[in-house]
Amino acid sequence: MAFGWHSGGEQGSCFVCFLVDKLLGIKQPALMNKKKVLMLAVNSSWSHSSPAFYYLRAMLGGLPYQAKMLDFSTKDHLGDVLRTAWAEQAQIVCFSAYIWNRIYLQQLLPPLKKLLPEAVLVVGGPEAQRLESYLSKTDYLICGPGEAKFRALAESGFRMSTDDLAKVPALSLSELPFPYKASDLSTLQNRLVYYELYRGCPYGCIYCLSARDGRKELRFDPANPDNLERLFEELALLVALQPRTLKFVDRSFNLNKALAHKVWEFFISNPLSCEAHFEIYPDLLDESDLAILEKAEAGKFRFEIGVQTVNPEVARACGRSSNWRKVHEMLIKLKKRTKIRLHTDLLAGLPGENYASIVDSLNQLCACLPDAVQLGILKILPDTPMLEIAKDRGYKWLDEPPYSVLSSDALSFPELCLLEDFARLLNLYWNKEEHSESWKTLLQKDSAESLLNRLRDIHNRLGYELHSLARAKRDAVMKELLEKYGG
Ligand code: SF4
Repeated sequence: MAFGWHSGGEQGSCFVCFLVDKLLGIKQPALMNKKKVLMLAVNSSWSHSSPAFYYLRAMLGGLPYQAKMLDFSTKDHLGDVLRTAWAEQAQIVCFSAYIWNRIYLQQLLPPLKKLLPEAVLVVGGPEAQRLESYLSKTDYLICGPGEAKFRALAESGFRMSTDDLAKVPALSLSELPFPYKASDLSTLQNRLVYYELYRGCPYGCIYCLSARDGRKELRFDPANPDNLERLFEELALLVALQPRTLKFVDRSFNLNKALAHKVWEFFISNPLSCEAHFEIYPDLLDESDLAILEKAEAGKFRFEIGVQTVNPEVARACGRSSNWRKVHEMLIKLKKRTKIRLHTDLLAGLPGENYASIVDSLNQLCACLPDAVQLGILKILPDTPMLEIAKDRGYKWLDEPPYSVLSSDALSFPELCLLEDFARLLNLYWNKEEHSESWKTLLQKDSAESLLNRLRDIHNRLGYELHSLARAKRDAVMKELLEKYGG
């Protein structure tokens, strides 16, 4: 089956509209004035895009609205965003609130409401509820999955009661239209484009927003040939957008092994001009995966692997069933047998985990030589089980985004500061992949922690910042470190 596309910003009759109408049982509405819907994305960087708005735009299919998307980043000057938004004179303005943009939106919404007093604001996203006080009675807050609710709002002309809105049942991932259009090429080329094949997560890590997400929604059934045909069509359409990275947002991409295999095999047998990024649950990987993955060309696949801790007690207390011995073995095999870029994550501040245990995780993980090691500081996210645990255990953390931990039940503030320094040094000297050979040599002589401490000492002595440093200076610092070890 071949997809039809909207040819421009207007929503006309195409496969997407047809599918939405079919799924929702919608008849083409009677003549209404064509209102302008502005979807104002505030991303964390210019290269990111907002998949939520692409879904919402697709949900307007067949309705008499003119949708326009504008992308900004949190680094953009507020006045510039206001000017551009005002110039659109939209009747409806939509936002998606996350931890990286909620504070920015708090500053943006009040002046925007003054400038566009007649506009209806629609706010969704995980942080939406915290923006309620910035909205008026005629505005809308969408909690939870937003696609069906947004469709219902649009059908009502954005004049629906909040009680009725709350009753609209969500659509599952398999019922949603493909969110992108061929004409998005000019916007999405060389950027990060998101796609999802599974919503929900069967695991219950206490610090994660997915811990209370009961959904188990698969977009395609890999045993159904029609579904597979649609999957391959969507993958081909995504590649045609020429993104820099195609990021699968599935929290554990390899949960459904058969579907993961179909996607990997598709990208191995079809030329992929970009990198495909998958978040992997490492314990689920086995020989059948490796047999496929070792055929992937260099630079085509990137795996994000959340290790978080190698301490089994801490992992169990966090609701993680991860087994470090097995993960370690798989990391080594992936490194030896595939050309996949391996991005690994650790988390500092987990309940009961002290400095020595975190450093042990760091040392053991670095010894596997993944391409990237991200040492994150735990965030106490509202709406996660971790909030109650943090209160019970006397944690201190930031009340506002990013909600980072300041001290835990086992970690002092100075220890967290030191780990944060290590995280910055890893970003400077490890994650840029400029000094991989030097690390390989150095790790045969000392632990990652000692090496990071030495790098920190050099920075302090030279008065260098930890978060950024010119390439030439980075090279000189690494050279000095190698010399200290007789390299
Ligand atoms: S951290 Fe990952 S595995 Fe754990 S609940 Fe969240 S999404 Fe699932």
